[in-house]
Amino acid sequence: MSSPAVAASSTSRSIVWFRKALRVHDNPALLAGIKGNAVSASQPVFVLDPWFCKPSRVGSNRMRFLLESLRDLDASLRSVGSSLLVLHGEPRVVLPRACKSWDVNLVTWEHDIEPYAKVRDLAVRGALERAGVECTSVSGHTLYDVDEVLKKCKGPPPTTYQGFLKIVGSMCEPAVATGAPEKMPKPFTGTFEETRALVSGVADGYGIPTLEDLGYEALGDEEGFPARGGETEGLIRLRKQLARTEWIAGFEKPNTNPTTRFHALKQSKPKPKSPFEIAAGGGKGENPRTDANTLITPSTTALSPYLKFGCVSPRTFYHELKAVLAALDGKHSKPPTSLMGQLMWREFYYVVGAGTANFDKMEGNPICRQIPWIKDKELYAAWENSQTGYPWIDAAMTQLRQEGWLHHLARHAVACFLTRGDLFIHWEWGRDTFDRELVDADWAINNGNWMWLSCSAFFYQYFRVYGPHSFAKKYDKDGDYVKHYLPVLKNMPSKYIYEPWTAPLDVQRKAGCVVGVDYPAPVVDHASASKACVDKIAAAYDAHKLANGTAKPSQNKSTPSDDAQPSKKRKL
Ligand code: FAD
Repeated sequence: MSSPAVAASSTSRSIVWFRKALRVHDNPALLAGIKGNAVSASQPVFVLDPWFCKPSRVGSNRMRFLLESLRDLDASLRSVGSSLLVLHGEPRVVLPRACKSWDVNLVTWEHDIEPYAKVRDLAVRGALERAGVECTSVSGHTLYDVDEVLKKCKGPPPTTYQGFLKIVGSMCEPAVATGAPEKMPKPFTGTFEETRALVSGVADGYGIPTLEDLGYEALGDEEGFPARGGETEGLIRLRKQLARTEWIAGFEKPNTNPTTRFHALKQSKPKPKSPFEIAAGGGKGENPRTDANTLITPSTTALSPYLKFGCVSPRTFYHELKAVLAALDGKHSKPPTSLMGQLMWREFYYVVGAGTANFDKMEGNPICRQIPWIKDKELYAAWENSQTGYPWIDAAMTQLRQEGWLHHLARHAVACFLTRGDLFIHWEWGRDTFDRELVDADWAINNGNWMWLSCSAFFYQYFRVYGPHSFAKKYDKDGDYVKHYLPVLKNMPSKYIYEPWTAPLDVQRKAGCVVGVDYPAPVVDHASASKACVDKIAAAYDAHKLANGTAKPSQNKSTPSDDAQPSKKRKL
């Protein structure tokens, strides 16, 4: 199979296979693919794999973020003389065909630790190498090369943050981030007809589709995750966040507010320089997705989707943050709660995820406590669809479905409620919901945190439970967050906003929200449900100790305490 548009060549022709790392700055796979422009031609390619492109697997917020990131990457590549070719089809089919048809002898990509990616990459590598194509896979998604860290572990990876820090502390600092190439080798694509001929017989289709093309419902600019995908937006947002020096200095994750919605930071908005800029603003209210000047942010950076897709290099984040901290002369918060500490949590989960068998399952996972979770579809559906009757939980799950993002402590609250706090449902089910809905869904981090929150690994104080009616009150007395995401409760007096079933019937009627009619009654009684959960986990822990020959008196406190409120001492 050969394309009329491509003349055979003995000189080096490469494909840079983008998957994550949707950026041109600090991209080791991109640099390896162009070899300092020593290759004669190079084609950046993204393969839109049908395995991912379905609403049941990847929610619309994440898919839109991906498509926006691809458009941005294409624009960045065009500015340096190249372009992104998005091919539709299965990578293991499309890439070998492309290499044969385009006479390619080198393919480069970024190493990926996720199970699906590992199987896919092995299949692609096998097919390409059998055809005599050189394959180069390089580390770039994390600060440290995960394989290097695992070698240093000399055994299973550490399951504690401090143990992890000790290991990476003995390694060289993360490499300095590199810039974008100033000029790219010429791509294989050309005019519309040439590109069509190039792709013919290689892929099922090509080009960046719309959400609707992929069978998703369209999302308006005012809807969904409140920022655009892509490297350009990611770097702007990173630098705006890092310019908030005082905020960075005092950043303590447990003190950030889970009920703060994305909002405009007015002070960061520069004055329009000219009447044209004023006119361009159109005098409209701020639109988080189109207003380039204002930083729209929750109480943390909301950079997770940009890290997930590699629109922002973790090394760029790390070194630019380090420079900000250096200027503060030691007067700043420290890991694990500081902003730098958050980047290290990401590394931690990558290392333990990559080095643990069956990390995404309870069974066969050596670090995961075996707990007899129930699989109750009705309760699970109530949780997933904001029908638990606990407004804070239901509002958070609404934010997740609508925007594809949740603050870390809101993730804590809903995960605790689903698993060890109230419903005793398997953490793998909650993980699946997050995996579909989150813009930042990340295999290692998501599984790791679900194990943490369900007290299956890393964290074992199962008797400390988040009160689904009391936790958010500490941050948002009047329940503005709840009223925003659950408008049915917007007229409920503050006194009852977190427990509307306790409001007298006439108050419920006056508020236009009668519990059991307009809004569900609680699916479980928190006090008795959390006690039952604690008892069951205590029994599972005892069984674990017996099986491991470490039986000691149970940690069980017969009543759970609603004191999972984070304190500075808690490691988040
Ligand atoms: P910031 O506080 O601004 O932190 C900066 C960056 O550090 C984040 O973007 C993220 O890359 C990293 N980070 C922060 N907290 C953590 C953490 N606890 N573990 C690992 N890395 C962290 N994060 C994901 O990126 N993808 C997921 O799929 C994911 N699933 C989660 C599931 C549960 C049940 C819980 C409790 C947490 C999960 N997290 C996940 C971790 C965390 O909630 C998010 O990374 C964070 O809320 C993203 O917001 P931010 O960018 O504003 O974070």
